[in-house]
Amino acid sequence: MCGIVAYIGAKDAYPILLKGLHRLEYRGYDSAGIALIDNAEIHVHKKAGKVKNLERFVNGSESGSTIGIGHTRWATHGLPNDLNAHPHLSANGSLVMIHNGIIENYGSLKQDLINRGYSFESDTDTEVFITFIEDIQKEGNHPLEDAFRIALTKVIGAYAVVIMSTKEPRKLVAARKGSPLVLGLGEGEFFLASDATPIVEYTNEVIYLKDEEILIINDDHYEIKNLDDVAQSPYIETLDIELETLEKGGYKHFMLKEIFEQPNSIRDCMRGRLNVDTGELVLGGIREYANALANAERIVIVACGTSWHAGLVAEYLFEDLCRIPVEVEYASEFRYRNPVINEGDIVIAISQSGETADTLAAIELAKNKGAIVLGVVNTVGSSIARNSYEGAYLHAGPEIGVASTKAFTAQLTVLTMIALRLAAKKGTITDTKYHELLVELDSIPDKVALALKLNDKIETISDLFKEAQNFLYLGRGYNFPVALEGALKLKEISYVHAEGYPAAEMKHGPIALIDEKMPVVVIATRDSSYDKVVSNIQEVKARKGVIIAIVTEGDELIPTMADFTIEIPATHDYLMPLLSVIPLQLMSYHMAIMRGCNVDQPRNLAKSVTVE
Ligand code: GLU
Repeated sequence: MCGIVAYIGAKDAYPILLKGLHRLEYRGYDSAGIALIDNAEIHVHKKAGKVKNLERFVNGSESGSTIGIGHTRWATHGLPNDLNAHPHLSANGSLVMIHNGIIENYGSLKQDLINRGYSFESDTDTEVFITFIEDIQKEGNHPLEDAFRIALTKVIGAYAVVIMSTKEPRKLVAARKGSPLVLGLGEGEFFLASDATPIVEYTNEVIYLKDEEILIINDDHYEIKNLDDVAQSPYIETLDIELETLEKGGYKHFMLKEIFEQPNSIRDCMRGRLNVDTGELVLGGIREYANALANAERIVIVACGTSWHAGLVAEYLFEDLCRIPVEVEYASEFRYRNPVINEGDIVIAISQSGETADTLAAIELAKNKGAIVLGVVNTVGSSIARNSYEGAYLHAGPEIGVASTKAFTAQLTVLTMIALRLAAKKGTITDTKYHELLVELDSIPDKVALALKLNDKIETISDLFKEAQNFLYLGRGYNFPVALEGALKLKEISYVHAEGYPAAEMKHGPIALIDEKMPVVVIATRDSSYDKVVSNIQEVKARKGVIIAIVTEGDELIPTMADFTIEIPATHDYLMPLLSVIPLQLMSYHMAIMRGCNVDQPRNLAKSVTVE
């Protein structure tokens, strides 16, 4: 989390940095700050709150510098106030730093610096880091670059940092480990940022920095070195991001835009991969390890949050279609136990950003234990993509709203394609069923478009429940992970307590919560669990619970029992989550708006969770 951006060139740096911070704000919005160097003097402007606050605060008082750094924070160490906002100056004010990540040994470094007479203004690990560099510089009379390199060998933790110095006012030095950093190569100018979104309108030539690489940028050249001071040869990539995908395009919020983009994003995800006429399903990113996947004794899926829910759907799919045992793990738990991984096990890592710190650590652990790691990520060139053996991109386009929507359906689409491909290869699916499912998958974007037409109806229903304090979401089979996802969406952006449960589990506890004030969202589409879910609805009604049922078009039974019904198009059980999640996304959006919440930037959250 945290977004960092930096610029050096001939243009006015402030507007470039500010615009970059707006683009990166999805990564954190506890505070924002910019540092500029003018006449070898550092000017820091920083303020708690959103980038807009900073903008109002600066209000023309910035110097006309052509070099600068900017930061939007998701606090890990210290309150989200002005003092803890980045950039942070070193003790004597000669160095200034922006940082994304956590310095784990900051406590002992800080104590040591305090013992030697230093004092600190903020509670951040970042101020300790930059002061530590100043101290090394002073002690050994080192140039900045050397002091920086020495410091990097002594800090433990994760970082993407950029530093400026009054002594070398036309220089940026930067490094990364565990947190992302991209260098944009312009004409006589350079850009640095946590992702490519602040860079894309100036240049499409970028270099994704690798862990433990140091970058030194002057006005006219850049150099990349490793921690042993050995020059590295960079790999220049060409960006493929459309500028308009980074704008709201007439929608009030990114989340709403992204919900409505789903017919297209799912289509984009299948484009060039699925051909209904020839029956071909090509996943270009999984070739070399396709046999290993088919012969795997076991698949382990590691993910967090919404991606973990997509993983649960994939568990049902892989087991049902491919007859391979699957385990779905929270990456954060997986990485800290001693999981049994056997040579040849397949580990699939799912992450929208491709930078999720826990998932990244989980795949490193899996690789060390001999697993073959495949990545299912959205962001091209991201750390998980680069650290996986092979994988499949989502091609859903940038997702900016903090609550994931289109990435979830794209993850389901990719995972379904992998499962179908694998089932065909293993011969665990008949030709007829394979073709039926390809045709059905191909029709999903149109069916999602139909489900989106329910928006007005869902808004009306949301209005009736906007004051509710608690919600229960129930689903079975393929719709169970959707119940979890629906509850998570509501919690994330509406701040309403919600729990997702397998419908049959309700009687083992949550049923005690049900009374006339408890809205229960039941995903009760026509599938193999339908009759059982109908019984669960009766059980809720018998206790005066209020039922909002998501049903398949034409259902005549459930509307006689439920208080509200939302009809979605019919599809195969395997693909139903792609449709049943749509009304739940819309409901959480409308409830959040009606409750006055900021849907694109919900409190305490950030999109790309690059810290543990
Ligand atoms: N640890 C730094 C802070 O608390 C940076 C946080 C982050 O990257 O999320 O300010």
